[in-house]
Amino acid sequence: MILTVTLNPSIDVSYPLDHLKIDTVNRVKTVRKTAGGKGLNVSRVIHLLDHDITATGFIGGYFGKWLENQLDHDGIAHNFFPIDAETRSSIAVLHDGGKQTEILEAGPTIAPEDASAFLDHFDKLLDQTDLLTISGSMPQGLPEDYYTQMIAHAGAKNVKVLLDTSGATLKSALEAPVKPLLIKPNEEELAGLLNRSVDKTDYATLKQALTDPIFDGVDWIVVSLGSAGAFVKHQDKFYHAAIPKIQVVNPVGSGDSTLAGLAIGIHDGKSDEDIMKTAMTTGMLNTMEAETGFVNPAKFAEYFAKVTIETY
Ligand code: ATP
Repeated sequence: MILTVTLNPSIDVSYPLDHLKIDTVNRVKTVRKTAGGKGLNVSRVIHLLDHDITATGFIGGYFGKWLENQLDHDGIAHNFFPIDAETRSSIAVLHDGGKQTEILEAGPTIAPEDASAFLDHFDKLLDQTDLLTISGSMPQGLPEDYYTQMIAHAGAKNVKVLLDTSGATLKSALEAPVKPLLIKPNEEELAGLLNRSVDKTDYATLKQALTDPIFDGVDWIVVSLGSAGAFVKHQDKFYHAAIPKIQVVNPVGSGDSTLAGLAIGIHDGKSDEDIMKTAMTTGMLNTMEAETGFVNPAKFAEYFAKVTIETY
């Protein structure tokens, strides 16, 4: 099975408003609440595309129970590690014709004994896992190299790891002896890692950036480029995945949906071309839906056929 890690899950609340008024009351008629956190977006898309997935991470309190009930309702298997502190919620106000104002809680602080007990829980799950995805930032209280420790545990059991994170946690993972199989940095993250700006519209520069020794030992590097698709390195091969022009409804979560597509393609042992086409399709299908981290599988074949891969 595929195991997805969301260490800091969240109840994502979205409030649509014609106009956001400051320093007064705003009343909302429709409220949408979903099981969120980047890893749970990944989980939902993998599940919608009919693959076995189990979601794990830390969960706590009544909000945590609500989140688990929501996953049960969606038919998504989960095996979270329980903590005493309450799981967070995140609010997105969608207002004034396309603006999005977010209020994000930091979430619980993980106690050292929970951090260490989670690794035992995780080890047991790894025994049934072929491929692991790790997404998002970490909750407070965990050491910077916590993902790196998890990648080492996965490596010891020959589990492939797809890592989608940024900053010091990503840097730590790249410096460790056991590397993730795949990373998915965006332009900003690349610039942060390389200490220089990277122009994502210039593929020659991108190609050069991805050959930096900092990435040695990482098989796949996927730089997603929004409507321009993605620039990809697999071992010593470089590709540009181009996508058709589509009607975008809500692009939030398309990076997570891309990771879900990469996980499915790699898990199923597809060719490079089909792995990238799957990932571009799941990314596009997510942008075509109002719900975050959601795809309509009925449209998969049509959009898969429209992705083109060029070696670079
Ligand atoms: P996130 O902030 O969600 O993590 P990201 O920066 O990782 O996003 P993007 O590059 O914005 O991810 O999008 C991922 C994929 O989703 C793209 O490679 C593409 O397949 C699809 N996508 C995103 N935006 C668009 C768009 N405007 N038109 C078509 N496809 C899109």
